[in-house]
Amino acid sequence: MNQQQPHTGSYYAATVNEITDYAPLRGTQRADVCVIGAGFTGTSTALYLAERGYNVHVLEANRVGWGASGRNGGQIIGGISGEEKIASHLGAEGESIVWEMRWAGHAIIRERIETYNISCDLKWGYLDVAIKPRHIRDQQAELEALQKHNFPYEYRLLSRHETATIIGTNAYIGALMNMGNGHLHPLNLCIGEARAAVSLGTTIYEQSPVLRIEHGDNPRVITADGSVTADMVMIAGNAYHFTEKKLRGSMFPVNSFIIATEPLTATQANAINPQDLAVCDPNFVLEYFRLSADRRLLFGGRCNYFGNDPEAIKGKLVPKMLRIFPQLGRSSPPVSL
Ligand SMILES: Cc1cc2nc3c(=O)[nH]c(=O)nc-3n(C[C@H](O)[C@H](O)[C@H](O)COP(=O)(O)OP(=O)(O)OC[C@H]3O[C@@H](n4cnc5c(N)ncnc54)[C@H](O)[C@@H]3O)c2cc1C
Repeated sequence: MNQQQPHTGSYYAATVNEITDYAPLRGTQRADVCVIGAGFTGTSTALYLAERGYNVHVLEANRVGWGASGRNGGQIIGGISGEEKIASHLGAEGESIVWEMRWAGHAIIRERIETYNISCDLKWGYLDVAIKPRHIRDQQAELEALQKHNFPYEYRLLSRHETATIIGTNAYIGALMNMGNGHLHPLNLCIGEARAAVSLGTTIYEQSPVLRIEHGDNPRVITADGSVTADMVMIAGNAYHFTEKKLRGSMFPVNSFIIATEPLTATQANAINPQDLAVCDPNFVLEYFRLSADRRLLFGGRCNYFGNDPEAIKGKLVPKMLRIFPQLGRSSPPVSL
């Protein structure tokens, strides 16, 4: 893996609340739990354990939130890939267990933002947009599931016309609005959770790539300049973690990129997203977008590209964005990136 890199250049990195500067690991340390990776998975685990009195040490190769957690769409959407299959393995209670899991993350995010006063531009409201008739059928099924489980937030199906009114595009044939989903600044959430864990006694080491793990009753996690011996080790390195051979075959890295416009005028923003909703389409190679707190359009999508040249990413995503919102290409002042 690439080691010890600063945050990738992004809207999120440019608007971060705090530039973290946790010292690298030096010497030998002892912990109840050693967590590898300080993205959402690692920081959330550390905070959860710290709240319950565990002594947690977190080793991060780069910076807190350096990976996917600090550069994603920021959309909070209930749903787990392969829900039905998971439920079928869990017996009679399977469906309700999976339904609870689906929304548990939302509750955790709400609660932590309040408890630890994390400033991360949290907004509620989301549109699941439909491109094909089968997407409408899926949305109808989702609506019925929300009804069945007495989902406590506003939700409703929107016609093609209502969808066009709410997000200023004719690209979709309908949508399911769900005010229980939402969006936020993911890097600030991740850094806020890390700060909260540290306030409860967790130790975080940045610029400390784990080179190997010595397995056993008391596993030892080893970096270039030190080690942490722990009762348990949690691997939270996402697709970047290559030290454990066993994990390699079970991970499938997928790429996705996001572009950000310059801040839109109030009129431009009102024309495309007056309710400040997060929006995502249901395609496997999906597109998703939302406004940032300073009214930029953050537009994300997959593209067949594995480099990191911003101009190449722009070249692929700008036409996709203008296909949804052609008015941004001819607006005055023109929208720039
Ligand atoms: C462009 C994009 C858009 C997305 N949009 C959304 C969205 O809108 N909503 C949503 O819910 N999800 C979204 N996702 C997915 C989401 O971001 C990820 O599922 C989530 O961030 C994964 O968190 P993580 O902590 O597991 O991994 P990461 O955030 O990737 O963190 C892993 C960390 O582990 C560290 N690490 C790896 N190996 C080592 C090692 N050997 N030693 C020490 N540290 C190590 C890395 O440096 C990294 O910081 C998106 C992802 C991308 C890429």
